[in-house]
Amino acid sequence: MSTETNTVATYATADELLAAIQPAIGGREILDPATGELVGRAPEHEVADLEAAIAAAHAAQPEWDALGHDARRSLMNQAADAIEANAEALAHLLSREQGKPLNGPNARFEVGGAVAWLRAAAAFGLEAEVIVDDGTTYAEMHYRPFGVVGAIGPWNWPMMISVWQLAPALRMGNTVVMKPSEYTPLSVLALVHVINQVLPEGVLHVVAGGRDVGQLLSTHKDIDKVMFTGSTATGKAIIRSSADTVKRLTLELGGNDAGIVLPDADPKAIAEGLFWGAFINTGQTCAALKRLYVHADIYEEVCGALTEVAKNMPMGVGLDEANVLGPLQNKAQYDIVDSLVRKATDSGARVLLGANPSEDQPGYFYPSTLIADIATDNPLVVEEQFGPVLPIVKFDSIEQAVQLANALDVGLGASVWSSDRDAAREVAARLQAGTVWINSHGGVDPRIPFGGAKTSGYGVEFGVDGLKALGQPQVING
Ligand code: NAD
Repeated sequence: MSTETNTVATYATADELLAAIQPAIGGREILDPATGELVGRAPEHEVADLEAAIAAAHAAQPEWDALGHDARRSLMNQAADAIEANAEALAHLLSREQGKPLNGPNARFEVGGAVAWLRAAAAFGLEAEVIVDDGTTYAEMHYRPFGVVGAIGPWNWPMMISVWQLAPALRMGNTVVMKPSEYTPLSVLALVHVINQVLPEGVLHVVAGGRDVGQLLSTHKDIDKVMFTGSTATGKAIIRSSADTVKRLTLELGGNDAGIVLPDADPKAIAEGLFWGAFINTGQTCAALKRLYVHADIYEEVCGALTEVAKNMPMGVGLDEANVLGPLQNKAQYDIVDSLVRKATDSGARVLLGANPSEDQPGYFYPSTLIADIATDNPLVVEEQFGPVLPIVKFDSIEQAVQLANALDVGLGASVWSSDRDAAREVAARLQAGTVWINSHGGVDPRIPFGGAKTSGYGVEFGVDGLKALGQPQVING
């Protein structure tokens, strides 16, 4: 395998990039969720394609491992350069396929995140750790590659989440077979096409199939570890189908993150942070704020300040530079959001903003919606709505707020909002969630481990701990 720098093609537009990844004829039509127009055609890979990809990844793995960390780091940084050189074309394609706008914390931001995570996974040091050295015993901990990693992803952040999965896997000497969501295959195919201009052949594959392909990936004897990001229901199916081969799993599953606003918070100062915590990627984010608990003393002020921010955020077609919110990615998700909001309004909850989607526009646009005076057990509060909607529940005591936040079986993220950091940290320590943010919600960082509690999954991604999760621990004793 050569580590020489290859010449990297740069694509000026999303259409040029599409021409490089689409099948010559046929393929499945992918439509723009904002307009209903054709974005492109995705190859319809089947089980035989998966078998071929796994065999090629398996064959390439020993040589990829033998290259060593420094050579892999160098190639990963070159891959990050290649993404940067194609950033605009990638962002336009992502915007058209996923729906997210170019601007705001959306398509350009996501492509930038893909670069940042790739570089971070390349940069971390991971030396063998001396565990005991007492004169009589000497033991070291090493991390060896598993072999072939299967990566199954969702449709909400298809490029960034693909990199979260592939970057630590590659760095640790594994080869990778990716199975993108059937809703957003083109984004992942394009990203991997760009990365693969740099990587040696056979190391990184994409199989753009449906659920049957995902299922085979999670049962296959030559897949040694599965990185999965998606719904809790699918995560449970993967646990079952991976049991016979005792596969290692990292599961990043669904969430329904709570935010708690303490009575000393300043409503105007926190309103924008609350808004983006909930509405990032038009609410289609695993660790977005999905239910907000506000102390009665400042409840009306928080509702008012949040409404002021939300009503001024432009929503529309992603390629329009003015927009920062887009459509829901697919009809099934639109229907979930619509049905949950109807259940809330039917119950008599107060609509502060939105809740009346227009019937006569193309695209799956659901208006930014804020719902107040809602019962704590309303479906909009207790189920994952995954859209541009936030239910706001009033509480009287911190005890009650903590109990409500912890009442669900999910625990991805949570947040506490207060002018008193120590008071916020005390509440944070009592919340059952993988991450608790203070005075913000949902920000992730490649240096900081991220993962869920309860049914939101297990294992962590990011940071050195994230790298270790892609390695088989091996003790050398003696
Ligand atoms: P999904 O579970 O429907 O699909 C995810 C992937 O799994 C797709 O590629 C799909 O084809 C595949 N799949 C489906 N059935 C399978 C099976 N039986 N075996 C193997 N693979 C199978 O999820 P989605 O709707 O694409 O994504 C939204 C969900 O993902 C939300 O619940 C969200 O909270 C969650 N999510 C979690 C995180 C996190 O980091 N925790 C991040 C993003 C999204």
